[in-house]
Amino acid sequence: MLANQIAAGEVVERPASVVKELVENSLDAGSKHIDIDIEKGGMRLIRVRDNGMGIHADDLTLAISPHATSKIYTQEDLALISSFGFRGEALASISSVSRFNLTSATASENAVQINCEGKENHEILPASHPIGTTVEVRDLFFNIPARRKFLRTEKTEFTHIETLVKRLALANFPVQFTLQHNQKTIFNFLPAHTDEQKEQRVAKLCGKEFMRHALHIDTAVTGIRLYGWIAQPSFSRSQADLQYCYINGRIVRDKMITHAVKRAYRDVLYHGRFPAFVIFLEMEPKDVDVNAHPQKLEVRFHQGRFVYDFLTKSIEQALADVRPAMPQSFTTSAPQSSPKFSMNHQPRFNFAVEETVQAYKAFHHPSEDQPYQNKRQSEATDMPTTMLPKNEKAQIENIATEIAKQQQSSKLPETLERRPSAEASDMPLGVALAQLHGVYVLAQNDYGLILVDMHAAHERIVYEKMKKAYAAHNIATQLLLLPVTLELNAEEIRCAEKHQQFLLELGLNLEFLGPETLVIREVPSILSADNIAQLLRDVLSELLVCQSSDEVNSRIDTILSTMACHGAVRANRQLSLTEMNSLLRDIETTERSGQCNHGRPTWTALSMTELDKLFMRGR
Ligand code: ADP
Ligand code: MG
Repeated sequence: MLANQIAAGEVVERPASVVKELVENSLDAGSKHIDIDIEKGGMRLIRVRDNGMGIHADDLTLAISPHATSKIYTQEDLALISSFGFRGEALASISSVSRFNLTSATASENAVQINCEGKENHEILPASHPIGTTVEVRDLFFNIPARRKFLRTEKTEFTHIETLVKRLALANFPVQFTLQHNQKTIFNFLPAHTDEQKEQRVAKLCGKEFMRHALHIDTAVTGIRLYGWIAQPSFSRSQADLQYCYINGRIVRDKMITHAVKRAYRDVLYHGRFPAFVIFLEMEPKDVDVNAHPQKLEVRFHQGRFVYDFLTKSIEQALADVRPAMPQSFTTSAPQSSPKFSMNHQPRFNFAVEETVQAYKAFHHPSEDQPYQNKRQSEATDMPTTMLPKNEKAQIENIATEIAKQQQSSKLPETLERRPSAEASDMPLGVALAQLHGVYVLAQNDYGLILVDMHAAHERIVYEKMKKAYAAHNIATQLLLLPVTLELNAEEIRCAEKHQQFLLELGLNLEFLGPETLVIREVPSILSADNIAQLLRDVLSELLVCQSSDEVNSRIDTILSTMACHGAVRANRQLSLTEMNSLLRDIETTERSGQCNHGRPTWTALSMTELDKLFMRGR
């Protein structure tokens, strides 16, 4: 008994841990309906009722004795655990620290009940119960006052339970869950089978806003599959509180996974913001060790680096693909509730379109699409594999190509199918109409109105282009007609001299005129030269804090982003329609173009339906 109580400390920390063990048992028993009743934050009562397969009368005593799991038969089973519980001590522990009652009926036997009160003398009685099991845990820790003292307020303990049940409900879509607290229904999740029902459940649990910004992902390579929903960077959190991750249906909170996801978002999220996601990993049970932590939250992967890279790459690509693939992102944002854009919806306003279409056609180079696709392919295989053992390296290269292939094949049909018209699908962001107060570009497509933050969008485009060009040692430059002379302090000049070669690689050709003067002769052609003095000052201030060239290399993205920020078109610059259209086309083909380098959105859309609502049309 003492042993059980000691073991209880490991499994049973608070009411929520009891709920977790009981519900996982119910899931293991194949239940399709699980009712959870809580009283006083679980301190007075925890009742879990399921319609699973039940427990045979003969096995009842065994079920609550330690290490008597029915789920492991051999040592090999231990390695192949794919059920939730497997250590066979949860019920033993829980029943040793509570007033415990279990009633169960199987398909072949009448119901029986077992009662115990923290003592060993169990009594088994006939009872009445449909097929399935009900476990009641009353007065948790009634016999261990020291532990009971550690429980928090009713509200806090219930919050833990609620969070836990949410997490379980997310991982078990086909199962109906109800949760009551003090006789009040907190939620009732109906079974979710279709994608629509699943997304409804996710929206209920994670909020409608999350769902509105969520991208659905589903990628797999040999041995591992990742699917679920990840929020676009426009929906981020100030805390890591909306991060749900499951491996083979089991809740995990694993540092490596969190880190891999964070890394995938590193280029699109504000500093100090946290991504939101609900992701499911499926892999061979033998490739993951879930026994690493008593509460089974942390896991150990047999090929951690492989999983890490798969996660980062898949999410990175899903985010990078949020170019205005209009139909996709629009339907993702409002999956079922309101099909915002009906595909045969014709544009109802038509001003200036002819002219702009002409302007666009004159400008557009269709040949650009092809090299872009090729780049994506080669880039995918381009990940930093230098430090890996050879076989893992090969494997990761495979992942990359597989993901790239899969994304292409999975994206394409969808776009084709939803394509409202050939023209619109070539130009998801539509045709430019005008510029608003020198800040926004207005455009129309088949669905409605597109608004683009000109500077933010251009900044991202320039940044992505600079990154690619720099990596290829191929930044195109232009000689300035009027070289820019700059007065700097001696330290800045020394720094510029020290990094002259590096600056040249960035496309900045400098000439030194004196101890405090330099001239900028050549700049990257992609940058607008209006701000070039400030640009160089800021790049130098980045370089001043770098002690070594390694440090310079590690800050290269920041440096390029600084350049992009200064080199992008400023607000209040008048753009021609041709320039506006070219900006729209660039957004369409640039990765991560949904956010500027600081994580702010670059464009948004108002559908005709939304506009109609604004004007209360059609009511
Ligand atoms: P474990 O789940 O690790 O096997 P537990 O102590 O949680 O150990 O449960 C002991 C055993 O009791 C289980 O192996 C299972 O056979 C049985 N059991 C517990 N809860 C249920 C349930 N809700 N439905 C059917 N069987 C159950
Ligand atoms: Mg169990």
